[in-house]
Amino acid sequence: MVKANILFVEDSKTQGAKTKDFLEKSGYAVTWVMDGMSVFRLAKTRGFDVMLLDRVLPDMDGNKVCRWLKQNEDTKGIQIIMLTAMGATTEKVEGLEAGADDYLPKLYDEAELNARVYAALRTKALRDELSKANRELKELLAKVEALSATDPLTGLFNRRRFTEVLESEYRKASRYETPLSCMMIDIDHFKAVNDTYGHAVGDTVIKDVALIIQRGIRDIDTACRWGGEEFVVLSPMTTKEHAMQPALRILTSVSGHVFSSMGDKKTTISIGVADLSCTGIDSADKMVQTADKALYEAKEKGRNRVETAM
Ligand code: GH3
Ligand code: MG
Ligand code: MG
Ligand code: MG
Repeated sequence: MVKANILFVEDSKTQGAKTKDFLEKSGYAVTWVMDGMSVFRLAKTRGFDVMLLDRVLPDMDGNKVCRWLKQNEDTKGIQIIMLTAMGATTEKVEGLEAGADDYLPKLYDEAELNARVYAALRTKALRDELSKANRELKELLAKVEALSATDPLTGLFNRRRFTEVLESEYRKASRYETPLSCMMIDIDHFKAVNDTYGHAVGDTVIKDVALIIQRGIRDIDTACRWGGEEFVVLSPMTTKEHAMQPALRILTSVSGHVFSSMGDKKTTISIGVADLSCTGIDSADKMVQTADKALYEAKEKGRNRVETAM
């Protein structure tokens, strides 16, 4: 069992020595200091559970020390019991207002002191448990969120998450009349990859192409796995003319890539590009559909090429 760790702040030598002795005999680890500055120096580093804090200190007001500890992320969990001189009501109220968890009038009865420290420790343990559970819950939530937003094979956004980004970027672009473009990407003759090398190799090729796409776009662009071996890239603040540059870069990166999983064979992709200036676009969906039509044209015209919608 680890001993409960108490920071004891008391400037009276006789009172301090007596209480420290009693607390140690009761089984606590006690660090005794005599002024406020020592508290500031020690409080963050030693992992104290409970603090017995004298209200009147030689260098500062105990309430000030208390307030500082409670405002600090690292120390606010320390349970503070204020030791008040004569137990005047105003003093108690001030102490509690400063954030003290409990108070004890001097000269205290040792049994009562022990009971109060024990109660403070119980509260501390509950708080620690609660914040641990809270932390775990937050981590879990973040994981669930990431899982529901990403495609497990490629790590790119999935279609669901992408649609949210698409809608929001479309609203922004329409409102501020800024350009917005997207490209639809499809691997050429992919059925043959599956047929020749098997589905598992097909998956690896999809993953590699996803990586090349991700590397070929900017931070503000969003890439998603649209489905199967199809991807969409959304580029805010970018016209279809400007989107040609990354589109061609991705196209040549893929066609130049040696796929070790396919015995060092190569493959190609086709890309269709559209932006908000294309004819008949009155929704985010329409823009993606228009890019899909341009993609179809790229396939018709022989694949391994980029086509832009008019
Ligand atoms: P095209 O050049 O016209 O695009 O020819 P294609 O053979 O690529 O034709 P299409 O795009 O219609 O076919 C896609 C194929 O991708 C069909 C399907 O069997 C395969 N596929 C879809 N999803 C996956 C997947 O997650 N993993 C693997 N390995 N194959 C997939
Ligand atoms: Mg004092
Ligand atoms: Mg396809
Ligand atoms: Mg295909």
